[in-house]
Amino acid sequence: MEQKALDEIFMKEALIEAAKAEEIGEVPIGAVIVKGGKVIARAYNYREATQRATTHAELTAIERACDVVGSWRLEECTLYVTLEPCPMCAGAVVQSRIARVVYGAADPKAGCCGTLMNLVQEERFNHRAELSSGIMKEEAAGILTAFFRKLRKEKKRLKQEAEHDATESNISGNRADDGKEA
Ligand SMILES: [Zn+2]
Repeated sequence: MEQKALDEIFMKEALIEAAKAEEIGEVPIGAVIVKGGKVIARAYNYREATQRATTHAELTAIERACDVVGSWRLEECTLYVTLEPCPMCAGAVVQSRIARVVYGAADPKAGCCGTLMNLVQEERFNHRAELSSGIMKEEAAGILTAFFRKLRKEKKRLKQEAEHDATESNISGNRADDGKEA
């Protein structure tokens, strides 16, 4: 099978992880780590539930892969992630010697695998990873866009409800005043 087709298979797995995050109200980002053609670790963003800034999909997947391999070195592994890694996760890629990074959508706000900077291919570090980007990027970006749209809608609904409640209590307040005057 050609590389692109293989990459899409594993990116679909990462998208499944992202969907799990979405189900529980987390920003939908998913990651899997592949070694020898098999998924050895999977994870999704879990930052809200844990209230820890470090529980990004990639970092959790790297920790799990290290457990599976029994080593901090992930030299024969590929990381698939739906969104371009942030500086923390790109740093963890360098530290764990991951051979290859494949991501879906680029992240203009935090992406450190080519967008804002490229930490995984920085010449001055002692490790560089092979990099492929834009794999199933429409799906990866689409799930994020849909999530944030839903979030904004929900916020608007809550605000309207609060305003409605405030109006209602004003009305009942007026009634109470009327009562006093009568
Ligand atoms: Zn990250």
